[in-house]
Amino acid sequence: MIHPLRCRCGTLKGNVSHPEKVSRGVCYCRDCQAFAHFLGKPDDVLDEMGGTDVVATLPKYVSFTHGLEQLACMSLTDKGMYRWYARCCNTAIGNTARDIKLCHVGLIHTCLEDGRRSLDEPFGPVRLRVNTKHAKGKPKAMPVSTAKAVLRFMKLLLGARLDGSYKTNPFFKPGGEGPIVPPTVLARGEREQLMKTVSS
Ligand SMILES: [Zn+2]
Ligand SMILES: [Zn+2]
Repeated sequence: MIHPLRCRCGTLKGNVSHPEKVSRGVCYCRDCQAFAHFLGKPDDVLDEMGGTDVVATLPKYVSFTHGLEQLACMSLTDKGMYRWYARCCNTAIGNTARDIKLCHVGLIHTCLEDGRRSLDEPFGPVRLRVNTKHAKGKPKAMPVSTAKAVLRFMKLLLGARLDGSYKTNPFFKPGGEGPIVPPTVLARGEREQLMKTVSS
């Protein structure tokens, strides 16, 4: 089974295979909130408590079919995660680690919605909530399903590491030497400015 991936304007398109293998979670951290503000889309990306609904999967299950030249990368700091978006319409696409060996991508709900059905159908319900102390309000804790989901995903990640398939990653150059596009790293002043919008 595959699930379509697209930016809001439809220029960037692709697929996610094996939707049954994902771990879906909500992250409330300030950096994820800052990314939504960076894109100028806080209301599109964030839920009412400031959470980002993320589908964590292996990069090898993601492929882009159209508009790859629109894929852009930013980072909040020079050590921060790579945060990917479609520059054509500022749709949040996902987050990856800087190290290709930590082969996961957290796809953001904004590139997975087709407007007709809930993400619960292809990807299952939200099973983990992380960084809840930065939420606006008190999201329901899910300690048991969080632990299970993390463990399940670690197994998937380790498998890809052991069999070498982590090298198949559409966000990185073949051979794994760096991201396919150079990331725009925010200058300190820009970042501070952005963080102010998050806490307000
Ligand atoms: Zn677009
Ligand atoms: Zn986060």
